[in-house]
Amino acid sequence: MSECQWLHEQLEGNLPLVAFPFELEQIPKTGGVYFFYEKGESCGHGSDRPRIVRVGISGSVRQRIGHHFADESKGSNCRMYLEFPDKPAYVRSSFRRDIGKVLLSQRKDDEFLDGWSKGYDKKAEWLQLRGRVWISKDKKLQQEITKIMREKFTFRFICVDEKADRDKIEKRCTGTVAQCVLCQPSERWLGLQHPNPKTKRPKISEGKLWQVNNRSEKGIDDGTKTKVLKAITDTKKWLGSRSQLRIPISQH
Ligand SMILES: [Zn+2]
Repeated sequence: MSECQWLHEQLEGNLPLVAFPFELEQIPKTGGVYFFYEKGESCGHGSDRPRIVRVGISGSVRQRIGHHFADESKGSNCRMYLEFPDKPAYVRSSFRRDIGKVLLSQRKDDEFLDGWSKGYDKKAEWLQLRGRVWISKDKKLQQEITKIMREKFTFRFICVDEKADRDKIEKRCTGTVAQCVLCQPSERWLGLQHPNPKTKRPKISEGKLWQVNNRSEKGIDDGTKTKVLKAITDTKKWLGSRSQLRIPISQH
């Protein structure tokens, strides 16, 4: 069995697939690693099994997931408006930014895409200079991104307290999935339409994941497997203590 198949099976066999709508209280506030899946994308280890399309880490899985899905319920921290009221914290999500780039690229809206692709702080400054019309354009785009995130993406998470462990699991798991010859994007994978940046860095559209970092890292080794298995045990305990809460199990 390949490491990629091992990873897909461990996650699938032990943890719920979380789909929107879900309660943020069902996601741990503490650190962890999360694995995103995308509707229409199947892995190469068995028919119609979902393919991992992004591996991410956070010191607070609840907050990061809240940002990705733009969940504005209590506790998500998405109501933490920053520079001005049109800029909720969820625009910090680089995942959302990449989905936005795809939408703007599809529309050939190069002028907006150029500024919109900037990092968070520069983008906030850029939008403020452009005024209300462009800010409302940004808001509309954010709503479209939210709809896509909620309809197309699901995820599993594991609780990992130590940052060094999160970093290792993220790198090794990303390397494993990115280099798996059996897991390939479908012809209709949204990431294939991601615009190519004018740099020599790796491109999302040339891979299969919504990330360019860690793709050439070494794959999962025995040490990583031990850490993943411990994290799964810890996560099941965490979920078990919240058995009164129901996480919707999504059908791929
Ligand atoms: Zn694979």
